[in-house]
This record gives sequence, structure tokens and C-alpha cells, in this order.
Amino acid sequence: MSPAAHFIGSWLVGSLATKNPRDRKLITLAGILPDVDGLGMVVDVAKGVFFDAPTTYQYYHKFHHILCHGWPAALVICGFLAWFANLRLRTFGFCLLTFHLHLLCDLLGSRGPSPADLWPICYSEPLFRHPIWFWKGQWRLDGWQNFIVFVIIFFSALWQSVRLGNSFVEVFSRKADEIFVRVLKKWSAAFPFAR
Ligand SMILES: [Zn+2]
Repeated sequence: MSPAAHFIGSWLVGSLATKNPRDRKLITLAGILPDVDGLGMVVDVAKGVFFDAPTTYQYYHKFHHILCHGWPAALVICGFLAWFANLRLRTFGFCLLTFHLHLLCDLLGSRGPSPADLWPICYSEPLFRHPIWFWKGQWRLDGWQNFIVFVIIFFSALWQSVRLGNSFVEVFSRKADEIFVRVLKKWSAAFPFAR
């Protein structure tokens, strides 16, 4: 699933889990950090630009879904994030939840253009090779199913933002979040059925 869907969906879980902004941010981060193992793409593209080499996406394919999409990374990432939380144990539990929702969403909808381009979840990597999970019916990353899921997550998050008085923008800036929520509340007042 797209990084935006992971991000907003994880914030939504965090917003339902806690009223504490710090813990909410940490729970949100746990749902997007698995994709840092896709940053090899930056090196791949940079190689192509600076060394005039063909862009092969070698590092992206080598590490994405391998380094940070299994239980070893779940323990490290969620443990690290929970260390900064107000309620550490509770936040650790919800971090594990958003982390694993990320894996589930990837299992459902992160296929490439052809039906053979399945992305498996290698749940014990990088420590052990097995188990390897994949779903033959996996949706395309840019497929309509992912789009519908994103729309549902997005509007649920807006609805929750009006109720809570904070939105997913809080992860970046508290000031921008205040402005965003103010606008949302105005819209909500204009469309009473949205409340
Ligand atoms: Zn992922």
C-alpha cells in the first residue's frame, strides 16, 4: 500500500488508541518506518544521475521488504519508539499493531505491474529466510482496491480529526495542525451530515 495510506491509517489507529499527542506520533511512526528499507531507491537513482549508470534499482530490490518488514525490525523499531513514550508498554503494544497492519496492507496490495510481480512478506528477515508469505491475489500498488481503501482511511481520519481536535498533520507541525483542524471544523459545520 502507498506510504500515504500507511501514514494516515497508522495515525487513525493512534488517534483511537490514545489522547496523548506524543504517543500518537510514535504509534504513527511505527506504521510508516518499515518502508525505510526502500530508501535504497535513493542510492539507485543517485547512482544513475551522478555516475551516468543505468538505473537498475539494485539496492531497492535487495533490501525493500527484507530489512524492516519482519519481526526483528518490529521489535527494534517499536522498542526504540516506545522508549520515548509517556505510557511505554501501552505505546509499544500499539506500535506493534500499526507495524503489523503495515505488513498486512503490503501483503494485500503492493504488487507490481504484472501478476508475477508479487511482493512477499519475509517475516523473519534479515535473521532467517523463512517464513515467506505471499498472496496470489495481491492487488496492484496503484490498483483501484488500494485507492478505495485509501479514500476510506482518508475520510475516516478527517472525521476523527474533527472529533479529536487534532489531525495527522500534527506529526509534522502543531501549528499547521491547528490551522488544518480549524478549516475542517468550518467545513464540518457547513455540512452537518459530515458530523
Ligand atoms: Zn512496506
